[in-house]
Amino acid sequence: MIEIDQNHITYLTNIRHQLHSMAELSGYEKNTAAFIQGLMEQCHPDEIIANLGGDGIAAVFDSKIPGPTLLLRAELDALPIRETITLDYASKNSGVSHKCGHDGHMAILVGAANLAAKHKIQKGKLIVLFQPAEETGQGATAIMNDERFTALKPDYAFALHNLPGYPKNSIILRKGNFAAASRGLIIRLKGHTSHAGHPEDANAPTLAFSGLIKDLTALPVSISGFNEPAIITVVHARLGAVAFGTTPGDAEILATLRTYDNTLMQKLADRVSILAHETAKAFGLECEVAWTEVFDPTINTAEEVEVLKEISQKAGLEIIEKERPFPWSEDFGTFTEAFKGALFGIGAGLKTPQLHQEEYDFPDQLLPQGVEIFTGLINHYLGLGS
Ligand SMILES: [Zn+2]
Ligand SMILES: [Zn+2]
Repeated sequence: MIEIDQNHITYLTNIRHQLHSMAELSGYEKNTAAFIQGLMEQCHPDEIIANLGGDGIAAVFDSKIPGPTLLLRAELDALPIRETITLDYASKNSGVSHKCGHDGHMAILVGAANLAAKHKIQKGKLIVLFQPAEETGQGATAIMNDERFTALKPDYAFALHNLPGYPKNSIILRKGNFAAASRGLIIRLKGHTSHAGHPEDANAPTLAFSGLIKDLTALPVSISGFNEPAIITVVHARLGAVAFGTTPGDAEILATLRTYDNTLMQKLADRVSILAHETAKAFGLECEVAWTEVFDPTINTAEEVEVLKEISQKAGLEIIEKERPFPWSEDFGTFTEAFKGALFGIGAGLKTPQLHQEEYDFPDQLLPQGVEIFTGLINHYLGLGS
């Protein structure tokens, strides 16, 4: 097993803090990407590919000896959440902060790249990928659409996510479905306004709007069986404008659909579309249905989860095998749909605030175990010199 010394952890902690202070939103990760590129250049990989699917950076280590190609991924983006906690390394971008711990994931991946550079891989290729725009579900697809990435032909792909609510020194695994599929729904209804004193002269979407909110919430129950969870969460709704003198003429409903597989997702999405159009038609309204932030489900291959289990056992981590998949989504599902591999969790502490909460900050104590698992994967698939 590769030793991870304290100086290296101090170095990675410092990098995590620097990344935290330069937090940038999905699709606008220029400074973060430049900083990461500098760190990768210090590892002297065989190739660095910049501007991958946006601001993505990939460092490729090639042993020039036949063997598999292993992809390890971290995310570059932060969230539109204000930093309200006091930190020496607080975000310098107001209203933007790393509240999903992607700063920690990046530092871990930098650590793994450092060790791969130092110990040299013995066969195959290692791709260290820093992906943009995970939070909006656009980054992984953008990477997959880039020929410079597909030319690398990964065989295996892995990523980790820190998970508050699980003990530190634990790894959270699941064979098969790990995280849900989700997609954002936008329904726009259009009639026409009138004076509020003459609602009879308007074609107001009010009844269609309120009916749709109720029907959308109830719809999943009618299409999914007991063992096939599906949910629709209405996240935002707007009817007309704030104007007491006007009968509204338009409305908008935003919702998120979640299922554990794409077949049920498609069925749910089709039903939503029919429901919206039929409701609008019944009230003589125009209707537009649009989709955004589409996430595939994340499906882990059984063999790769076994590899993770072995590595975690050797590292002395508590192994938690989830009975049910997570209801949140991760765009890493786009990679596991194409390659063998797995997304796994590392416990971020039972009392750590939840992801996307203002009080959250990535716990630095997780850095060594993250590096250890990633290094274990490199060693398993590609071999590392002593
Ligand atoms: Zn997140
Ligand atoms: Zn995240």
